[in-house]
Amino acid sequence: MPRTGVFVCWCGINIAKTVDVEGVAAASRSLPGVVHAETYKYFCSEPGQNLIKEAIWEKRLDRVVIATCSPSMHQATFREAAQAAGLNPYLVQIANIREQCSWVHSNREEATGKAVALVTAMVAKVRRDEPLQAFTLPVNRRVLVIGGGIAGMQAALDIADAGYPVVLVEREPNLGGRMAQLSETFPTLDCASCILTPKTAEVARHPLIELLAYSEVREVSGYVGAFTATIARKPAYVDWDKCIGCMLCQEKCPRKTPSDFQRGMGPGKAIGVNFPQAVPNRPVIHREHCTYFQTGKCQVCARICPVDAVDFNQAETTQEKQVGAIVVATGYEVVAPDQFGEYGYGKYPDVIDSLAFERLNSSSGPTDGVIRRPSDGAVPKEVVFIQCAGSRDPDKGKPYCSKICCMYTAKHAMLYRHKVPDGQAYIFYMDIRAGGKRYEEFVQRAVENDGALYLRGRVARVYPEDGRLVVKGVDTLSGQNVEVFADLVVLATAAVPSGGAPGLAQALKVGTDEHGFFNEAHPKLRPVETLTRGIFLAGSALAPKDISESVAQASGAAAKVLALFSREELLADPLVATVNESHCSGCFWCRPTCPYQAIEEKALRDRQVATVNAGLCQGCGACAAACRNGAMKLRGFTDEQLLAEVNALCL
Ligand SMILES: Cc1cc2nc3c(=O)[nH]c(=O)nc-3n(C[C@H](O)[C@H](O)[C@H](O)COP(=O)(O)OP(=O)(O)OC[C@H]3O[C@@H](n4cnc5c(N)ncnc54)[C@H](O)[C@@H]3O)c2cc1C
Repeated sequence: MPRTGVFVCWCGINIAKTVDVEGVAAASRSLPGVVHAETYKYFCSEPGQNLIKEAIWEKRLDRVVIATCSPSMHQATFREAAQAAGLNPYLVQIANIREQCSWVHSNREEATGKAVALVTAMVAKVRRDEPLQAFTLPVNRRVLVIGGGIAGMQAALDIADAGYPVVLVEREPNLGGRMAQLSETFPTLDCASCILTPKTAEVARHPLIELLAYSEVREVSGYVGAFTATIARKPAYVDWDKCIGCMLCQEKCPRKTPSDFQRGMGPGKAIGVNFPQAVPNRPVIHREHCTYFQTGKCQVCARICPVDAVDFNQAETTQEKQVGAIVVATGYEVVAPDQFGEYGYGKYPDVIDSLAFERLNSSSGPTDGVIRRPSDGAVPKEVVFIQCAGSRDPDKGKPYCSKICCMYTAKHAMLYRHKVPDGQAYIFYMDIRAGGKRYEEFVQRAVENDGALYLRGRVARVYPEDGRLVVKGVDTLSGQNVEVFADLVVLATAAVPSGGAPGLAQALKVGTDEHGFFNEAHPKLRPVETLTRGIFLAGSALAPKDISESVAQASGAAAKVLALFSREELLADPLVATVNESHCSGCFWCRPTCPYQAIEEKALRDRQVATVNAGLCQGCGACAAACRNGAMKLRGFTDEQLLAEVNALCL
């Protein structure tokens, strides 16, 4: 009979408040094979781990059960502690008496009974555990970064500066993401271009960064250390290798179009770049606007191009890249403002969204940085900013706070006053959330120095009157209805996940939250990792974030990649599925159940059988449940172990 030790953690008061931990330890002592049981306030702490190690040595323990929090929190910690004491780490089991017990019950007696049952089940299971060895996987030390906004660029630069090659995929024709559209940035008011363009230039000239612009990741297969990504490049209808970036094509193109980059306010062309400092500085023909593609006539760009780079026959191309790790930095978008009929967006030209206001402020914007209202080009004397347009609004499906809007609206009020000193900014708000270094002071500056007038309450309606707009709402502080006349209304619309994020998440086999933002492995302890090993996250792809947070996270994700690449070989968890070939009938019922495509075919002399690609297998056990012959087993979760657990619970 193995010698089992049981360690019951108080987890401060998290467990001890609801569960009688001493009672659980006492009950454990009478379980078969248990030769030691004790409690401690925090077994995850260093003194706590030392207690476990000492007990393993002194009591010659060869099995350990720790009754504590979820294994996703500290299983690795406890396995390492056991290993340091000379025990095989896979002979340690966790009984989760926090998330599955103390946190979800209030009756102390019943919770204690349940905790005893959970420990009993784990003691029965651990007795049947086999010592296992982690296996090794080779690691390809090249990384794929998806998204070329500030977060993706920072991650790419950090990794490349450490000496590892990076493939950076950006789906737009140029780098920069949303930041490329911003004018000046809170909380320092430095110009976005001044901090962004040196970074885009650095990325473009870095010898270890391969930039694939106007491209998208279509498929990803493989596993940590050995991913294969299929990347499609959209046709630009311009051969970028031949193009010299003279932009004669853009200048001479006769087709003026609304520019998405300028939020529909400034004229774009059917061929060209989004802004003069774009990297790469290579044009794209927008097929939907191009006269030649629409009518078969024109080709001015092709005729004018001095290097014959225009190619109307260009088609999508795909290529495969082998990489060892992936960083997802696909950012966010702002929700389409036409959802807000009550605010008149789309109906009244002087109702715009915040990104459009950024473009009006920008010296590379449609008005060269002079704030003019779109309807007639007049300088607005009164501007109303409406915060939380969509955010914190369950009716619009966005119950969350978009986090950046309070700050950028204060910035907008400031920038407006700097350019229109006799102008008045009104801000309708629900609460001011200015948590960040010098953020509160920044908002105070908008009020005290720049005269921004904050009105607490939601806006009910915006409508035209006498050539101006009337913003009708309630000031909930004074309890009064308010009507403000405005020349321009700016909506701080909710931030939402980047278009295509759910499809990309599916290709990568990583999770998203209920709103479509990528899910981190643990919100506090593993904020830039996903549950799929080797895939990391950075920036607003996880949730709305400002620039400094996005950059910090990107460097965090880069550090995780570098830690992975610092090893000669990767150690992989041996808790994977295995096939008993003599029992396998080759029916392959297991295959469709595997979410990781880990089941492969193997030819025996007389038949095909299933085999498991241990690198791909994540140990979910779906195949073992589906196998009709009992040929598929999940290590650490054999039928015998699971039945022993169930029997123990039924005692
Ligand atoms: C109006 C407004 C004003 C703001 N002002 C400020 C400010 O003053 N200060 C501040 O700190 N923050 C500000 N922000 C926030 C700032 O924009 C973000 O913090 C920053 O852009 C986040 O960077 P990111 O790289 O995570 O995401 P993004 O900037 O969204 O970049 C993501 C990139 O990924 C690309 N991408 C998306 N999907 C794919 C895909 N499937 N394949 C390949 N590429 C893909 C996108 O094209 C984009 O280039 C403001 C935001 C708004 C809306």
